[in-house]
Amino acid sequence: MKRYDFIIAGGGMAGLSLAYYLTQSPLRHKSILILDREIKNSNDRTWCFWEHRDAAGPYESIIFRQWDTVTFHGTTYAGPLGMGAYRYKMLRGVDFYQFVQQELEKWSNIERKQVSIDEIKATPTGGEVRAGGELFIANYVFDSTFQLSLNDQKNHNLLQHFKGWVITTEKPCFNPEKAEIMDFRIEQHGDCRFLYVLPFDEKTALVEFTLFNDQLLTDDQYDSALRQYVDQYLETGGYTIRETEFGVIPMSDVKTEEKPATNIIRIGTSGGATKASTGYTFQRTQRYLREIVRNMAETETPYRQPDWFERRFKLYDSIFLNVLEQHRHPADDVFTRVYVNNPERVFRFLDEDTHLLDELKLFTTMPWWPFTAAFFAVIRRKWIGR
Ligand SMILES: Cc1cc2nc3c(=O)[nH]c(=O)nc-3n(C[C@H](O)[C@H](O)[C@H](O)COP(=O)(O)OP(=O)(O)OC[C@H]3O[C@@H](n4cnc5c(N)ncnc54)[C@H](O)[C@@H]3O)c2cc1C
Repeated sequence: MKRYDFIIAGGGMAGLSLAYYLTQSPLRHKSILILDREIKNSNDRTWCFWEHRDAAGPYESIIFRQWDTVTFHGTTYAGPLGMGAYRYKMLRGVDFYQFVQQELEKWSNIERKQVSIDEIKATPTGGEVRAGGELFIANYVFDSTFQLSLNDQKNHNLLQHFKGWVITTEKPCFNPEKAEIMDFRIEQHGDCRFLYVLPFDEKTALVEFTLFNDQLLTDDQYDSALRQYVDQYLETGGYTIRETEFGVIPMSDVKTEEKPATNIIRIGTSGGATKASTGYTFQRTQRYLREIVRNMAETETPYRQPDWFERRFKLYDSIFLNVLEQHRHPADDVFTRVYVNNPERVFRFLDEDTHLLDELKLFTTMPWWPFTAAFFAVIRRKWIGR
């Protein structure tokens, strides 16, 4: 039986990114096996994220659209948000899969198999993966297939769920220079509900209806909200739906384990790369994977060593989730207060790159009582267990 240096279980966003970073590192000649049940050749998702102007990532050449200006429609403010040094970017899944797969094809030491994984287990000297009736072994297994358990009452287990349409309109009605990242002008139903509109050109845009709560809607309900928004706020002159996208992202403060065993490393959403308070995962996964590959190249071990003080961001995420879950304050107003003050600082905060002083300044813009009550509720729930 062949033993690989690395098995990558799940060749989606995190798995393929890891393989890509390995090919760009001193570890490029290691033997790698990528297992996924899908071929990954369709546009099954679109990733949006912000990035510093001076820090373009490896996928810059395949960025589908990017915007210097983003706009926001909240309770007391509607208009542009100063992005400062950031740009908002959109990467289509299909372009990412193709780009990485083309790179991987150049490497004879990288194998890919389309197969369903049944089990991943640690062994005394590595890890093994059982898939399609075969057993594969490696020094390290990187797992992006592990499913987070979202039913422990100790945690806040919300979902970010959304349906989007790529529409082409009869009349030019979009400004391709501006992306609307949150528009709260829809009935909130006591939840957090908003639309975003990401224009490709004057007549084409991705219009997406998004909710943060614990209840998925029916397909008709997503469609009806999208239809209502387009009819009410966009002067389309009629439109055609060219593509649809549906997704559910966990917004949970469940404790994740990046290293469940010495030679098994979880990556992507499985490894805790999804930010609980926003659902954004793409950039955090890239950051974590770059650290993992750097560590392996320098020390032969992949483990990341996050600073203990960084854990405060997990507490902030839990407090925010508690405010949402317990409906302590209208979410549209929370987001308005967050964004209008200093949007650049907010992007840095969400990237967990701020200092304590920045964070305190941001917190002073929040309604103090709902957030204080949420803070104590989180302490009770997480540490005292009530
Ligand atoms: C529609 C959608 C849009 C999103 N948009 C954004 C966004 O704009 N910005 C952002 O930051 N995040 C976004 N996310 C969240 C996150 O970035 C994505 O979910 C991302 O794909 C997560 O990467 P991953 O590698 O952890 O999981 P995936 O990309 O889902 O990869 C996991 C892979 O494992 C495979 N797999 C799972 N189980 C098995 C098994 N038993 N056997 C074999 N293969 C298996 C799957 O086929 C899949 O290819 C979005 C998510 C969705 C669903």
